[in-house]
Amino acid sequence: MTVLGAVLAGGASSRMGRDKAAVVVGGRTMLDRVGDALAEVCDRVVVLGPEREGVETWPDRDPGSGPLAGLANALERADTDHVLLVAVDNAFVRVETLRGLVSLAGEMPVIPVDRDGVRQVTCALYPTSLAGIAREELEAGGSLQSLVDRVAFRPVTPDEWAAWGEDGRSWDSIDDEPSLRAAEATYHDDVPGEACGVFAAYSTTQRVSHLIYFGLFALQHRGQESAGIATSNGETVTVYKDLGLVAQVFDESSLAGLDGHLGIGHTRYSTTGSNTWANSQPTHRQAGITSIALGHNGNLTNTAELATRLGVTEATTDSDLMTEDLARAIDDDRSDGRGLERALMQVAPGWKGAFSLVIMDQGRIVGLRDPNGFRPLCLGSLPDGGWVLSSETAALDLVGARFVREIGAGEMVVIDATGVRSYHPFAEVKPGLCLFEFVYFARPDSQMYGRNIHAARTEMGRRLAGEHPVDADVVVPVPESGIPAAQGFAAASGIPYHDGLVKNRYVGRTFIEPTQMLRDRGIRLKLNPLTDSLTGKRVVLVDDSIVRGSTTRKLVEMVLEAGATEVHLRVSSPPYRWPCFYGMDTADRSTLIAASMEVEEIRESLGCDTLGYLSLDGLLEATGVADAGFCTACLSGDYPTEIPLNTDKFQLERS
Ligand code: SF4
Repeated sequence: MTVLGAVLAGGASSRMGRDKAAVVVGGRTMLDRVGDALAEVCDRVVVLGPEREGVETWPDRDPGSGPLAGLANALERADTDHVLLVAVDNAFVRVETLRGLVSLAGEMPVIPVDRDGVRQVTCALYPTSLAGIAREELEAGGSLQSLVDRVAFRPVTPDEWAAWGEDGRSWDSIDDEPSLRAAEATYHDDVPGEACGVFAAYSTTQRVSHLIYFGLFALQHRGQESAGIATSNGETVTVYKDLGLVAQVFDESSLAGLDGHLGIGHTRYSTTGSNTWANSQPTHRQAGITSIALGHNGNLTNTAELATRLGVTEATTDSDLMTEDLARAIDDDRSDGRGLERALMQVAPGWKGAFSLVIMDQGRIVGLRDPNGFRPLCLGSLPDGGWVLSSETAALDLVGARFVREIGAGEMVVIDATGVRSYHPFAEVKPGLCLFEFVYFARPDSQMYGRNIHAARTEMGRRLAGEHPVDADVVVPVPESGIPAAQGFAAASGIPYHDGLVKNRYVGRTFIEPTQMLRDRGIRLKLNPLTDSLTGKRVVLVDDSIVRGSTTRKLVEMVLEAGATEVHLRVSSPPYRWPCFYGMDTADRSTLIAASMEVEEIRESLGCDTLGYLSLDGLLEATGVADAGFCTACLSGDYPTEIPLNTDKFQLERS
């Protein structure tokens, strides 16, 4: 379920002096509950929707004129200069609707929450939190303006909802629409959010924009929110980016406009800042005669400090701040054309956290990894003498490049007409590649630390079978990421392997609002059970990780409904207990099922017969390169760097 909030707030206006705050609650679900919560802090609460006893209601639509007309009436009748509008819905509010809401606020000063991005629109605090914050703010003498400044709009996670229920407000009482949980499972995957993919190319013989396009295409799994490419012909840097998948953003004509012999590309999953066009990458700055573009995979941990140092209030992502920092340091008075790399040597040591970057100016591409090397980056050579940089080796295969080597943790490589040169701008620390690259992020056909990811995942399954044996009839993977581990489990245990869940390969992110009927189908939009493989069987269900737990719960339910007599859940990584600050989108610890529950409690909550997680030692050994250096913080709580106090991905947008 997604609760959507749109705040329209008025400051001083010509109609000052009426209600301190009037609230209109729109939508058709949970109206009474939301209304009650908000009534505590507002002079007047009006429910926009079907008439109901004891509640002041306005019709939510005029016949034939659509919901916006109903809202217009409501706002007019509110007759106040302070309006807080909370839209509650169980699906996405369309961008146009929100734009309409914002414009309908009439003369009242409006703070639009829509920043051109669909995900931004689908963000809200859940109502009781909003009410709580509103009360605090108003009691402290704040205004609605300061309230709006303070509240963050962000997705409500399934477990927040679950926690809300456990908090004494029963799910059952609000779950009058059974579709709500299903919709949540469908639209907020219970998997780690990917971390972004970067790619860069330098070639005087091939069309660089095409190379980058196909490189990004191969890295699509790392981020599906937006894609962008910047190229240079030696004089001008051209950037083209948009929201959507790589194949949606680019076509022949947009690629034709990206001429030049060098360039960088980026495919984004937002870990800092919301999913808007402005936040998509590559970022770009003009610094004197130098034009720079940057693509970032990872997350800085000193974003707030960097923003303060730069005195920047307008940047909305850590990547934009890095670009600004870099642009200010570029001194292109010198004629050797190496202003970019000198600037990087100067400013990069001030960036903390996770960053695998591709950067360019008019004449060169640069690859740079943070000193821990949290996120991967590798170098490949093209058959005709050009070079590419890529988050993963699998993308090299697609563009016909030969793997040369990984860019080392803390290394910077610069590629231009003279070849490749390497620098080390940082003090050396122990490398710490994200262990989850091996568990989940990376493509199975990629190599990291010289080890094939698929082979490592199969070994995780073998070790899992050794650590948590069980009597069962069939091993079934959760597709697709659980497949190699399930194969390993089956091979080691001797229990037959069967496909028991079929994934609809063509369900990706959708910006189309599904119908109620479709939302009712919930997780079945993505996975459907193969009843023949499951009926009457004791099933070992193998997945790579459990983050929030909501989807796993539904999966177990689905397998049981399909006729399995027992479900033994096996997970090829340890309990995910700690938030990641290095680019995986799980920064809020309260959303992690293992943060507050022991294994037996998790088992009970998921409804399976037994539950077994692979140990951390087992996982590290399964990689085959345990000594190479890994970050294990989300599994062990052992963070390799200082971690930030403010972990809100929208922190810059609220400053
Ligand atoms: S905390 Fe976990 S997900 Fe984040 S970088 Fe470390 S191992 Fe990867």
